[in-house]
Amino acid sequence: MGSANGLATAQGRPPLFSFGLISDVQYADIPDGRSFLGVPRYYRHSILVLQSAVKEWNTHQKHKFVVNFGDIVDGFCPKDQSLNTIKKVVDEFEMFKGPIYHMIGNHCLYNLPRSELLPLLNIRTLDDRAYYDFSPVPEYRFVVLDGYDISAIGWPNDHPKTQEALNFLREKNPNEDKNSPNGLVGIERRFLMFNGAVGKEQMGWLDGVLSEASKLEQKVVVCCHLPLHPGSATPVALLWNFDEVMDLIHRYNCVKVCLAGHNHKGGYSIDSHGVHHRVLEAALECPPGTDAFGYVDVYDDRISLIGTDKMKSTDMHFNPKVTL
Ligand SMILES: [Zn+2]
Repeated sequence: MGSANGLATAQGRPPLFSFGLISDVQYADIPDGRSFLGVPRYYRHSILVLQSAVKEWNTHQKHKFVVNFGDIVDGFCPKDQSLNTIKKVVDEFEMFKGPIYHMIGNHCLYNLPRSELLPLLNIRTLDDRAYYDFSPVPEYRFVVLDGYDISAIGWPNDHPKTQEALNFLREKNPNEDKNSPNGLVGIERRFLMFNGAVGKEQMGWLDGVLSEASKLEQKVVVCCHLPLHPGSATPVALLWNFDEVMDLIHRYNCVKVCLAGHNHKGGYSIDSHGVHHRVLEAALECPPGTDAFGYVDVYDDRISLIGTDKMKSTDMHFNPKVTL
C-alpha cells in the first residue's frame, strides 16, 4: 500500500485513516448519451467503474469506510425500473467490506421520492432529512449536508419545502423552464431547479455540530452533493445558498476540506479562509476502459486524495498560506 502513496512513505508517517470515494455513478441500463453541453455519458459503463472501485478499495484493505457523493442512478432511467436500478447500484456499493456513507443527488430524486430513497441508502433520520455526521476517529468529524433540503424535487408536491423552493425559483429565475440559466449572470446562474439549498433547521444543526467539533478540537470534512465554492465549480452547479453555508463554516476554524460532486468535470480551489474545496470527477463520464474513483489518506495536517485515471490526485495541506 505504501507504493501507491509516495508522500506518506516519503514523510515516514502513516495516515490516521483512509477512506474511498466516488461520485455521480448515474447508472442506467440505456444507450450512451450526452449532457446538455454535449459531453458524452456512458450510462451502462458507469456501474463497471463502481465495480472496479469497490474491488480496488477491498484490495487495499485499509479503508475505514467509503463515501458516495450522490446521483447513483440517472434521471433517464425508465421509471418502472427506478427501484430495482437503485437497489442494483446500492448492492454494488455493499460489496465493499465496510460502512458506506451515501448522500442524495438530484438524479436519485428524479427516480424516487426521498421517503423511499433514504431507507435504501441507509440514511436513517427523522422526517426524511438527509443530513448527518459521524466521527471515524476522535480527531475527525465528517458532516454530510443535504443540498436538496429546500428543493423542488424529492419532496411531495404539497410539502412546504417544495413550495418554499418554487417560490424561491420564481423570485430568482425569470425563465419559464427553471432549469434554464438564460439571462442569469455569474453566480446567479445557480438558481436552477436541479439545485437546492440548506434550510434553516439544517443550518442550526450544522452550527451545533461545528461548535461541538471545535470544543472537541476535531477537524471537519464537509461532504455535499452540491459544490460550496465558485472557484471549484461552474456557477450552474452551486448550492443556492453556498454563501450562507460558507459564512457559517468560516465562523469556525474546524472545517478544513469541503468535498462535493454534481459538477462532472471536477474542480479544486482554496477559499479566502484556507478551506479546500475539491469537486470530484464523475464516474458517468468515463469512456469504457477508463475509471474515476479514488481514496483519501487523512493525516493530522493534510488530506491526500489519490485518484485513479480520470480522478485527479490532490494534496490538501491545512494551512495553505503557511506552506506557500
Ligand atoms: Zn447532481
